Amino acid sequence: ALWQYQFRLILLGDSTVGKSSLLRRYTEGVFVDCMDQTVGVDFYIHFVEVEPGVQVKLQFWDTAGQERFRSVTRSYYRNSAGGLLLFDVANRASFENVPKWHREVLDKVKPFEVIFLVVGHKSDLAAERRVSPEEGERLAASLGARYVETSAKSDSNVALAVQLLAQDIYAAVKKGTMGPSS
Ligand code: GDP
Ligand code: MG
Repeated sequence: ALWQYQFRLILLGDSTVGKSSLLRRYTEGVFVDCMDQTVGVDFYIHFVEVEPGVQVKLQFWDTAGQERFRSVTRSYYRNSAGGLLLFDVANRASFENVPKWHREVLDKVKPFEVIFLVVGHKSDLAAERRVSPEEGERLAASLGARYVETSAKSDSNVALAVQLLAQDIYAAVKKGTMGPSS
């Protein structure tokens, strides 16, 4: 095979934080203003190199808007190796809900472990910002995750965010800590 590993990644966070837009920017290189919630594929495949010569196949899953009703099905979480926990830096409530999404993932994937990345999204909205980078960092640290700020609109750090998460998962797999947790 052209790839040695396959990681399933899921995107979580309140409705409208920009999950689908981040994924579209990453996989298709585009940004669509006022994206229709119901349009678009909810499954993407992408390949990254996590260290020289090691190719990983990433399978991304996006909610089809179910997060709006907090009714994301258990099958969405199943077998996921990584979770992108998004909030909108201009939406305080979405930031405060990140721990709930984190808990939700852990409950649904038990007893397996998931590597998280906390993403402060829409970093282009400087004037409307309601969450500081320091607060984002602190929240991520409290959840044992890294923190990155991204913008799908201005194409800032989107590829970096995915790369960091893939590398963190790969590191955990190599260390053998990705099995069922005790
Ligand atoms: P989802 O519900 O989390 O999947 O969010 P969407 O991807 O559907 O995005 C919700 C709204 O936020 C849409 O109007 C997007 O155009 C907008 N949006 C997404 N990403 C960004 C971004 O990086 N910057 C700005 N300014 N708007 C964004
Ligand atoms: Mg969406």
